[in-house]
Amino acid sequence: MITVRSKLYVAGFCKNIGALTMRGEPWAVTKFPAICALIQHPSGRNILFDTGYAKRFHTVTQKLPYKFYAWFTPVTVTAEDELHSQLLLDGLRPQDIDTVILSHFHADHLGGIKDFPDVTVIASQKAFDAAQALSPIQAVKTGFIPDLIPGDFKNRMMPLEKIPTVPVLDYLPGFQSGWDLFGDGSVLAVPLPGHAKDQFGIYFQDAQHGEIFLVADAAWSSRAIRENRLPSSLAYSAFDSGQDYDRVMGKLHHLTKTRPEVKLVPSHCSEIWKEIDNARPL
Ligand SMILES: [Zn+2]
Repeated sequence: MITVRSKLYVAGFCKNIGALTMRGEPWAVTKFPAICALIQHPSGRNILFDTGYAKRFHTVTQKLPYKFYAWFTPVTVTAEDELHSQLLLDGLRPQDIDTVILSHFHADHLGGIKDFPDVTVIASQKAFDAAQALSPIQAVKTGFIPDLIPGDFKNRMMPLEKIPTVPVLDYLPGFQSGWDLFGDGSVLAVPLPGHAKDQFGIYFQDAQHGEIFLVADAAWSSRAIRENRLPSSLAYSAFDSGQDYDRVMGKLHHLTKTRPEVKLVPSHCSEIWKEIDNARPL
């Protein structure tokens, strides 16, 4: 398999109740990072996985009903936290980014996408169509804020569903097939439905850090996957499909048992946050 180089970033965080994300946890306010990734392909392409929060979150949530989102999950993000600012410190300007892979359309993954105005966005067409069809109330309930979508998004979007698939069973036992995003097997997108409509994660092999599976919001934490701990029943009201969520969580738990060398990265995991060099202290 072609190896890539990758780096994780935290672009802001939100606060929520820990017990909502894992049954048995205390009813205490917990911080949840918005983790995104840079993937450097050997061809020289710079690719992002999700974009985290950006300061515009505060602007787009000033009006109702989107205000509810900011009330229920207060967000902290500074100009320095924004993904494009952190990439600049690493020598990458927005125009150096080639592609953004968007796992799903929730505001904490989509938040910084307007900071990369010329990129191709790989996203699920089915998820996009479903998000577009939501009423404002439904949108806020499912974590989607339409104003975060750039005006020319449709022209720049590469539908995931049009990309050829390959088997992934050998790398990820329990998962059947994935989309070969760049046609060379270097980055494979794997369906992870349940949390959001047609959500997906990506699997790749990092030249330095080994096998990595960015699992987006299929689980809230690495610990939840290790211990196969499901969220509170209250959290399920925001999911696209609770059944799919539980099924995917079971598969991820199985994967950690059968192939512990694959590092799973949930987007909001505090353990991973601690590992990330440039993260703010907890
Ligand atoms: Zn989400």
